[in-house]
Amino acid sequence: MHNIKSYNGNCFCGAIKLTVTGKPVAMGYCHCESCRHWSAGPVNAFMLWHTESVKIIKGADNIGTYNKTKNSYRKWCKTCGGHIFTEHPSMGLTDVYAAIIPEFPYHAEVHVNYQEKVLPIKDGLPKLKDVPAEMGGSGEILNE
Ligand SMILES: [Zn+2]
Ligand SMILES: [Zn+2]
Repeated sequence: MHNIKSYNGNCFCGAIKLTVTGKPVAMGYCHCESCRHWSAGPVNAFMLWHTESVKIIKGADNIGTYNKTKNSYRKWCKTCGGHIFTEHPSMGLTDVYAAIIPEFPYHAEVHVNYQEKVLPIKDGLPKLKDVPAEMGGSGEILNE
């Protein structure tokens, strides 16, 4: 592999700094109830990275963790309360929110958990009912 680039990000207040390296496995919008409820927003812009591609470079001891289920460990800054990422240990992936790494050229490829949407988005991208079959979902595509 050549051209491996790192990108910097930080929480809302800057107490936590991190880098992501290379390319995410997937990028898109999640409409699930868990993302919406935790973030208090209608949709979550996600980037799934291999966990080893994500490095905390400052403020690791300032990160709070909550796991409602064993599949998702949600992380935030204890100072500003800003969300930073969610680890999915069973998949070996970490969902770093697009807003955390503003310098990364984010472009959504897919919408997931669209059956749970409260905000329809007619952008022409595929709308998965839940998640891709290779991630244990139905892989079914819904109309916008
Ligand atoms: Zn912060
Ligand atoms: Zn979600």
